[in-house]
This record gives sequence, C-alpha cells and structure tokens, in this order.
Amino acid sequence: HHIIEIHNLEYAYPDGTLALRGASFRITHGESVALIGANGAGKSTLLLHLNGCLTPTKGSVRIGDIPVMKSTLPTIRRTVGMVFQNPDDQLFMPTVYDDVAFGPLNLGLPVEEIEKRVKDALSLVGLAHIKEKSPYRLSAGQKRSVAIATVLSTSPNILVMDEPSSNLDPKSRRNLINLLKTFTHTKIIATHDLDMVLDLCERTIILHQGQIMADGATVELFQDV
Ligand code: ADP
Ligand code: ADP
Repeated sequence: HHIIEIHNLEYAYPDGTLALRGASFRITHGESVALIGANGAGKSTLLLHLNGCLTPTKGSVRIGDIPVMKSTLPTIRRTVGMVFQNPDDQLFMPTVYDDVAFGPLNLGLPVEEIEKRVKDALSLVGLAHIKEKSPYRLSAGQKRSVAIATVLSTSPNILVMDEPSSNLDPKSRRNLINLLKTFTHTKIIATHDLDMVLDLCERTIILHQGQIMADGATVELFQDV
C-alpha cells in the first residue's frame, strides 16, 4: 500500500515556466527517498505539491487514500511535515520555543505533552539552550535546525525536507543524518548532500528538467561513485 502516489504530475508557474513535465512515482510507508537533480530540476516544485502548497496543472497527488486538494488540506497537513527550503518561511513566532510549540499546540495536545515535544525536538537538533531567543536573531544554520524542530515536534507520518542540511555546520549535519536514521516513518528529502543520500536514503529519484530520469535503489544508482 502506498503512502504517496504522484501520477503524471505537471506544473506550470504563472509565468509559463514548465517546472514539472509528467512526473510519476509511488512511495511505500517507511521508505527513505532522496530526490536529487541540478538546480532548477523541479525538486522544490515537486515537494510543494506534497502538502498542497502548489496545485497540479495536470496529474494528481495522493497521500494515502486522500487526494491533495483544498478540501483535504487540514488532514494532509496533519500527516505531512514539511521543512521548507527557506527557514524564514516557517519561523514567525517571538521565540524559538513558541515556534516549535506552534504545531503541537495546533494539534490540540495537552500542555505537558506540548512541553515534552518541544523539549525533545529542540534537544534532538541540539538547540535546547536557545529556546528563549528570537528566531530572527539566529544564524542561518540555527534557523534551519529550528525549522526542522518545528516539524519533528508534530510527529508527522511523512517527513518532507527541502535541502535540510544546507547551512549546517559539519557537526549539526552529522547529527541531523543520525537523528533522521532513527525516524522510522516515511521521508522524502531533496538534497545535494551525498552523505545524506548514501547514509540515509535506500531509494533515490533523479529529476532532470521536470522529468524523472532515474528511480531506484541508491546503492545501484551510485555504484560507480
Ligand atoms: P529545484 O528545487 O530542483 O532547484 P525548482 O522547483 O525550484 O527546482 O525550480 C524548477 C523550475 O521552476 C526552474 O526552472 C525555476 O526557475 C522555476 N521556478 C521556480 N519557482 C518559480 C516561480 N515562483 N516562478 C516561476 N518559475 C519558477
Ligand atoms: P512522542 O513519543 O510523544 O512523539 P518523543 O520523545 O518520541 O515523543 O519525540 C518528541 C518529538 O520529537 C516528537 O514530535 C517526534 O516526532 C520527534 N522525534 C523523536 N525522536 C525522533 C527521531 N529519532 N527522529 C525524528 N524525530 C523524532
């Protein structure tokens, strides 16, 4: 049974740029999938369809049995946790703590559970010591880690990440790869970070100019590297 099903997905931006040109794939529950390809290949555009930030020009996107569309967005966003390419797109509260608590608060969880989740998510990314700081005052790498924590704290069934290791220092990057290894739910990660692909993702999808050029076991796609 497939938890993500993308069928003949096409997407044209308002200016006419055809960013996706008929992409199809399915992902099974628990898979770790790397989405790779050159800048402009369509990775971000594809990921933005998984939580309904973009609506297909043609084709369809399903999460489990649910088609991604306006009426299903609340359900979709409870299932799909998205780490955006730009952390500024998801940090908007006065403190780091509040940003990480925002998702669990919206889920209507009890206060003690919210506190536990914030504490756990922040310590997973190594930022428990800056919980009272304003997200605006953080370094790019710290913002990235907070953005990741805001998603981890919601315990998503599907984790979607757009270049999660960019701006991270080597230690934080290694920490992220290790913590994602222990995250057993489905994940799909757009990245240029070869360690992340090789260490974390058993499957790799290669996008080229809006189309899928290859899709298979990472060890086979990279056997010559
Ligand atoms: P990637 O994430 O692989 O770098 P993107 O999905 O960001 O690729 O971009 C795919 C294509 O869509 C590129 O040609 C890019 O220039 C174009 N594109 C991205 N965002 C927009 C936008 N808001 N308006 C018009 N074209 C865009
Ligand atoms: P709970 O069991 O209440 O979800 P946990 O202590 O397992 O609490 O985790 C707290 C938060 O951190 C959760 O939202 C969970 O998604 C996230 N989390 C815990 N462990 C990991 C992990 N190894 N990888 C990613 N996220 C994790």
